[in-house]
Amino acid sequence: MNKPTRLESKPIPFIDVGAQRRRLGPAIDEAIARVLAHCQFILGPEVGELEAKLAQFCGARHAISCSSGTDALSLVLMARGIGAGDAVFCPSFTFAATPEVVAHAGATPVFVDVEEATFNLDPASVECAITSAKKLGLKPKVILPVDLFGLSADHDSIAEIAESEGLFVLDDAAQAFGAIYKGRRLGAFGGATATSFFPAKPLGCYGDGGAVMTDDDELADLIKGLRVHGQMPGQSEFSRIGMTGRLDTVQAAVLIEKLKIFPEEIEARARVARRYNEALAAVAIVPRVPEGYASVWAQYTIRLAPGRRDGLGQALKAEGIPTAVYYAKPLHRHEAYRRYPVAADGLPVTERLAEEVISLPMHAYLDEPTQDRIVEAVKRALAR
Ligand SMILES: *Cc1c(COP(=O)(O)O)cnc(C)c1O
Repeated sequence: MNKPTRLESKPIPFIDVGAQRRRLGPAIDEAIARVLAHCQFILGPEVGELEAKLAQFCGARHAISCSSGTDALSLVLMARGIGAGDAVFCPSFTFAATPEVVAHAGATPVFVDVEEATFNLDPASVECAITSAKKLGLKPKVILPVDLFGLSADHDSIAEIAESEGLFVLDDAAQAFGAIYKGRRLGAFGGATATSFFPAKPLGCYGDGGAVMTDDDELADLIKGLRVHGQMPGQSEFSRIGMTGRLDTVQAAVLIEKLKIFPEEIEARARVARRYNEALAAVAIVPRVPEGYASVWAQYTIRLAPGRRDGLGQALKAEGIPTAVYYAKPLHRHEAYRRYPVAADGLPVTERLAEEVISLPMHAYLDEPTQDRIVEAVKRALAR
């Protein structure tokens, strides 16, 4: 094997936000310049235009933009009046924002295990957790599934449990805007869907941003009011306690341009994932997308035998290739969340995944030579 040349050892970005910026160049500059010209920085015309386009894109009746993915989740819990004594069922194998909003609402996050094949909520564990919550005297109110790493949760199974128990489903699609479940894009499942436009998410803006999608007219109006301190559309009265939760007009203008190329980018990510899968299936457990699903590949995550991933991460780092571990420690074992209940059967899959997962660079602009360099480095490191 030849020694790597200087070009070959050039650092590779984990997510290349700059490559997309270069592609969109003048279109973004012009979109921002239009906002700078009209000066309607708060709820300007681009906000409504974006909301119509987001709703159309995912087939929901309403899309309400807001200040972040976290606030999108909070706005729905606020609108539903979730609070003290209420149980909200969510995974522990997720980002902290998922249970955080529940705790902020004064309710109790109840941690549920995930399925090994998809890393998403295990319906059997949800049922177990509902029983556990009732035994603790909590009122089951909401199932909060996460569509982790860009792959949809099993929304039909979740809907079935929600229906039989009378629970609301709030889908945390912060990592999965654009993903498809049984032929339809996320945004059309459950009572409401929250997403994030944080720059590193599949559809990101140039700062913080988020949105709520719902088919429920009343809920949509409530959320529009809650994002401006509880002043409902067309009313002068503050009828509810809300928050400052708007999306900036500048961010809406950026997102309108980025949404135009988003379907192409989803395709490009899928191509990258397919190439990784073909190259790495022999050396690691690679992610599989169930029939009828389409992932937006927020992360490309493989699994290795326990104890092996740190060595891989170090070997790749030495070659200028970044990796990340989402999530090395499940949330129910973090200090802030240790006091909350978990499903009585425990979270064995969550615990195992936390020891096995490692994510490789993934974005729509990862070219084949760069990807081949990553693949060769992974194979070399794992052959040691
Ligand atoms: C990123 C993320 C959020 C929060 O989104 P922000 O826009 O950063 O507030 C919520 N849930 C999950 C699963 C996320 O990955």
